[in-house]
Amino acid sequence: MLQVVPAHMSSEAQLKVWQAWPGAHSFCCDGRVMVGPDIKVTYFAASLTTAAIVAFWVLVCPSSPWFVSVGSATLYLLTMTFMALTATTDPGIVPRNTAIDDATAAANAQQNRFVDVNGVRIPLKWCRTCKIFRPPRAAHCSECNVCVERFDHHCPWMGQCIGRRNYRFFLGFVISVCLLSVFVAAFSALMALRVARQAYAGKKPPFVDILSKAISLQPGAVVMVVFPLLILLCVGPLSCYHCTLVCQNKTTSEEIKLPYGNANPFSKGCARNCQEACCSRSSRVIQPRSLASEDMGTAAMLSDEGEPNDHSAVASLRSSTFETGTCSSSPPVSGGSHMAAAVIPVDDTDALGSRRHEAPNVALCGQCKNDDDLPV
Ligand SMILES: [Zn+2]
Ligand SMILES: [Zn+2]
Repeated sequence: MLQVVPAHMSSEAQLKVWQAWPGAHSFCCDGRVMVGPDIKVTYFAASLTTAAIVAFWVLVCPSSPWFVSVGSATLYLLTMTFMALTATTDPGIVPRNTAIDDATAAANAQQNRFVDVNGVRIPLKWCRTCKIFRPPRAAHCSECNVCVERFDHHCPWMGQCIGRRNYRFFLGFVISVCLLSVFVAAFSALMALRVARQAYAGKKPPFVDILSKAISLQPGAVVMVVFPLLILLCVGPLSCYHCTLVCQNKTTSEEIKLPYGNANPFSKGCARNCQEACCSRSSRVIQPRSLASEDMGTAAMLSDEGEPNDHSAVASLRSSTFETGTCSSSPPVSGGSHMAAAVIPVDDTDALGSRRHEAPNVALCGQCKNDDDLPV
């Protein structure tokens, strides 16, 4: 059962992160499952899909070969699985900095910071709500009220942001919906036409007559042709669009706003981009079941075992979206930009899908004294 905890409870001691959650998400199973603010729309989408597939099984499958039932059940389960994974997976929420004081936050808001990613200078935007410099490609979602790594968009149908950690599930969902729609529409049409031809008992009437006969004899099957085609009309172009984005390693936001002009510092070639989008896994930063303690951000940085991560681990989180980077701030305090050591990815996936951890190699410069000053 979903439970939303009032904000005033955050002041109580011994609360877990999910109980003092500042975003718009809801949690269940003691913080094990997190869903977005629009979860009711996801329930509606799941119910609609289930109703359609049950209608198909009742109206079409009894008159069709056995593999039609098996194929449609497989695609339906695939669709529901991807839907559930997209809706319940942390999209890559960046923890808030609750330890920062107002004066420092105000000073940071006035600063211009940049990071060089593969030769392209990318500005780091200050989030006034989360009080952090957002990592490259991150954005603050006004629906969920959190910053999300590699933010693609907020999907109302999934009730959730689509970001670094659940994008591959979203991609699987839209593709499986397309396959399910094509499958259902095709076999419904075949069944309706077969029944109509049988009604003419060996004659060869014009196709229009067969069509009108199919509508009169099998109206349910005809509905099972039209409805999936309407779904396909909406989701089909979306799937193609996201497939092209995957090949280019772009987010929807980047494709629309073109923040780097014609350059794309994150592209590694079509094959690597596809592999990264479909196979790469990144660790979760927010740990909803950890103790919130005094600092949501600090609590969120606790590892699964409850051990606090060190400073470099925090840096590695925020640097995991780019391969090499240097941080710079403007105006510089001591003249010229200050530099951090080369930043390397800590979460990467090789061709076999196994996760590789590399030691974070971030050295903090003189100006990066605390979390807030990290070269994100
Ligand atoms: Zn934010
Ligand atoms: Zn969102």
